[in-house]
Amino acid sequence: MPILRQIAQLGQPVLRQETACVGNPADPLIQTLIDDMLATMTEANGVGIAAPQVFEPLRLFIVASRPTPRYPQAPAMAPTAMLNPEILWRSDESEQGWEGCLSVPGIRGLVPRSLRIGVRYLSRGGGVCEEELSGFIARVFQHEYDHISGMVFLDRVANSRDLISEREYLRLVSA
Ligand SMILES: [Zn+2]
Repeated sequence: MPILRQIAQLGQPVLRQETACVGNPADPLIQTLIDDMLATMTEANGVGIAAPQVFEPLRLFIVASRPTPRYPQAPAMAPTAMLNPEILWRSDESEQGWEGCLSVPGIRGLVPRSLRIGVRYLSRGGGVCEEELSGFIARVFQHEYDHISGMVFLDRVANSRDLISEREYLRLVSA
């Protein structure tokens, strides 16, 4: 049975640390970590989670866009574990969108992200996947990719006036 991991909150050094590549996706410790991250993310109504957020400084994250109370407009997809992910290219166009983070509770910020990206990663089965992502799913990927680079979304907010409380954000999206 997967266990719920503690989520590192802003200020925990692990969120700013360098991360190591996953050596062997089949390692039972990695498979267990992925199952625990999925359970932890689901319990917290997240649409993604990165290994550093559960105190594991590894290049591994889950992208799992779906409508949740925190992101009512998110498109649905199968939760996907992405190991040793890379961004191969980015579209010239970018767009601003609201982001939050399980490690930064209560706050939303307007963050510019590339509208489309080409990515490569290993699946949890070890296969190489290459795909093009766009819109909200590309945004989640870029947010999680920042986590394995020691960054959080607050680092990308251009102006502190683009930060609002989660309660005000929920009022905005339900209006
Ligand atoms: Zn986050």
